[in-house]
Amino acid sequence: MKQIKNNFIESIGNTPLIKLKKASEITGCNIYGKAEYLNPGGSVKDRAALALIKDAQEKRLISEGGIVVEGTAGNTGIGLCLLGNSLGYKTIIVMNDNQTQEKKDTLKNIGADLRLVPPKPYKDDGNYVKVASRLAEELKNTNNNGVVWANQFDNIANAKGHYETTGPEIWDQTDGKVDAFICASGTGGTIGGVSKFLKEKNENIKIYLSDPTGSALYNHILNGELKAEGGSITEGIGSSRITKNFAEAKIDGAYSISDEESLPVLYDLIQNEGLSLGTSCGVNIAGAIRLGKEIGPGKTIITILCDRSDKYNSKMFNKSFLKEKNLPVPSWL
Ligand code: PMP
Repeated sequence: MKQIKNNFIESIGNTPLIKLKKASEITGCNIYGKAEYLNPGGSVKDRAALALIKDAQEKRLISEGGIVVEGTAGNTGIGLCLLGNSLGYKTIIVMNDNQTQEKKDTLKNIGADLRLVPPKPYKDDGNYVKVASRLAEELKNTNNNGVVWANQFDNIANAKGHYETTGPEIWDQTDGKVDAFICASGTGGTIGGVSKFLKEKNENIKIYLSDPTGSALYNHILNGELKAEGGSITEGIGSSRITKNFAEAKIDGAYSISDEESLPVLYDLIQNEGLSLGTSCGVNIAGAIRLGKEIGPGKTIITILCDRSDKYNSKMFNKSFLKEKNLPVPSWL
């Protein structure tokens, strides 16, 4: 197979589906993960970065030499910065200071102007998303090539990117024989865009949300109440509010997944299937297993493998950190 890509942008997407052996065996279903960690920036968020930049370009908000500002848990920032580097844009990233050192280092190493802020609730003016929005506004008149706030949470160009790429890819890769899709939501871009596309193709395809403990979305789906319980070491997923991208999603049901449930899934995948995946993947796959048990056997279920474990070494493989939180520790450490 000749596969030549001309640049960063062309390398985004068209990721394979990988069969998850144990998840499939214990449910009697075919559970596949879409290997989004193979994107050039290392995560599913390269797709969102591209969709948001395309939107800004189409609206003529930015040209070479311009600045992209964004509040992010890290992956969107990495995607935006690498993409920006390839197009001649500068990137300013606002991120909570409790995200892993690995993501902070990566952002600095690829040339992002990283501004760390203490975590604050969304309603607070100091919330990282609000800080990013204000910063873009303040810088507006300083650059003739445009200063853009990417606004991944509420600019539905994000979900549109998944509607136009991730959804159709899943449909084609399964020849339309897909029974269910499940993933967690951060901005809601992935679940918003994929669910919309798949439901338009076949309204019987079940769409489920896999929500980490500490997020309010599970209770919202179950009883319409935005209420959060517990917490999680996962990053980039969960929400206290309904973002515009999440509002695009067509959802049939939800599971609440704790770290105690998701981490063993990740450790088992490393040891027995050679897949070393990031924390949100544990929530996605644990959810897919619950869904397989509920609707299976014999069903085809797709989830998202968002990124690799190496961005979370200091949490996922940190014995004292895990023990302090009473979380399972990989048997080989
Ligand atoms: N997993 C990881 C590791 C992420 O960084 C994100 C994005 N914040 C997600 C999952 C969720 O994707 P989305 O924003 O499309 O809901």
